[in-house]
Amino acid sequence: MTSPVRSPMADLPALPDDALRIVALGGLGEIGRNMTVFEHQGALLVVDCGVLFPEEHQPGVDVILPDWTALRDRLADITAIVLTHGHEDHIGAVPYLLAERPDIPVIGSRLTLSFLSAKLTEHRITPALVEVREGGKLDRGPFSLEFLAVNHSIPDGLAVAVRTRAGLVLHTGDFKMDQFPLDKRITDLRGFARLGEEGVDLFLVDSTNADVPGFTTSERDLAPAIEAVFRTAPRRVIVSSFASHVHRIQQVLDAAHTHGRKVAFVGRSMVRNMGLACELGYLTAPDGLIVDTQTLERLPDNKVTLVCTGSQGEPMAALARMASGRHTINVGDGDTVLLASSLIPGNENAVYRIINGLTARGANVVHKGNAKVHVSGHASVGELVYCYNIVRPSNVVPIHGEARHLKANADLALSTGVARDRVLIAGNGDVIDLHDGHAAITGAVEVHEVYVDGHTVGVLTEDSLAERRALGQDGVLTVIALIDRDTGLLAEGPDVIARGFVHDESAFESLAPVLEKTLAGAAERAVTATAELERRIVRATESWARKALRRQPVVVPVVIDA
Ligand SMILES: [Zn+2]
Repeated sequence: MTSPVRSPMADLPALPDDALRIVALGGLGEIGRNMTVFEHQGALLVVDCGVLFPEEHQPGVDVILPDWTALRDRLADITAIVLTHGHEDHIGAVPYLLAERPDIPVIGSRLTLSFLSAKLTEHRITPALVEVREGGKLDRGPFSLEFLAVNHSIPDGLAVAVRTRAGLVLHTGDFKMDQFPLDKRITDLRGFARLGEEGVDLFLVDSTNADVPGFTTSERDLAPAIEAVFRTAPRRVIVSSFASHVHRIQQVLDAAHTHGRKVAFVGRSMVRNMGLACELGYLTAPDGLIVDTQTLERLPDNKVTLVCTGSQGEPMAALARMASGRHTINVGDGDTVLLASSLIPGNENAVYRIINGLTARGANVVHKGNAKVHVSGHASVGELVYCYNIVRPSNVVPIHGEARHLKANADLALSTGVARDRVLIAGNGDVIDLHDGHAAITGAVEVHEVYVDGHTVGVLTEDSLAERRALGQDGVLTVIALIDRDTGLLAEGPDVIARGFVHDESAFESLAPVLEKTLAGAAERAVTATAELERRIVRATESWARKALRRQPVVVPVVIDA
């Protein structure tokens, strides 16, 4: 099979009026920065626009955005952004897209839009919001949209059905099938079945837990373990969770109330989101249960509950600062810390560092490794197979997952009888056309990682990130070469300034003859351009460092005329 040509969207094969084009710009082959673009009759519809969080090998990167370069000259064609739910990996990149075209209508449920609005206020953007509910229908250009309730680890999630002349597409968003959710709002399988009866031509399905056997257990199953923490904790209880996990935090509030404790929220996003959730009625607490941190300080330790962010080991979040003694809340002997969250792959080291830090300070740390304090927000094998059998889709594209998750989900679709050539494993940028009831990959657009680094977006490249890693791991060598322009040879030196090395000066002595030889070689070939001399110095120094120091430092050459 030849790999498809990567090209901007405008260069792709023409799309017939009765065909639908789908391009995922993020979320395929990775967990995060979900963004799917639908194209029909010249109009575009964006479903989700999230961020991906950097890993330890991406130092200094704040977040990673989907790459919408291919859309840049089509921004005017976007009829709407539909948000399936309020998680950062689904809404986090919206401010950046709206920065390019602020008047794109954003469609979503009440809680989703309220979380987004709070974020947009920080970016000083006033968006055009369109609130929808489960069961609601809405037309945007050539797209007829219908919204269905789904249950997930944040309230108010929606699946979206997209009807066009090309047929019916069902996009699950993130979902699971908790049969006893705290808000009694279950995934609308009756709606899924009704669409199945109508005929789902393409089913886009959450893959996050497609390799996890069985069924995802109910959020309510955590109550005994959370209850036990509050029953036995001798002093303060400090809970860390996602700032959006309203139902998990509801369970914490309930247990705190039962055991006569007060609760304060700590950390900007936690205070903001829980304030919104309370205001909108998604989180309920008896009067006086929630207090501010100043009030809490005046209470005895065994009446105190703190709820904070940082359950993924984020270095700047409250929990990490408590673990390393950099927070005003001083964690100590007898405190109980409850990490009521998942452990996202890639964050393990950071999270265990925090668990160790807290333990060393005398805290008892309760986490998913030693107690049942977390259930996933995603459908496992059992639920996914149910869905396939209920929906009976003609074509399937697994979404939201790393390669292994997409493959596992594709296998589930096959096991329920979807035809082999109708189950497509696609990557970011792959172009899928649905035409005459048949989905196929017809091309690809170019996509990269777009890094947000401080105030810059997309300025930091893969190359400069590699350099940043090298700086961190292998240090930097500045080589100052004073060159006699008449001979082209070193007039003296070279001077070497090393940063990030423990070697003494003598370690660099063997570099001088190497550079002398390099410059003599250049002089012989009449190479005099400073840029070329610098390149040769870098190459020679790098190869010397590999052998002499067993390191690959960043080399900064400075050529000065004697
Ligand atoms: Zn989610």
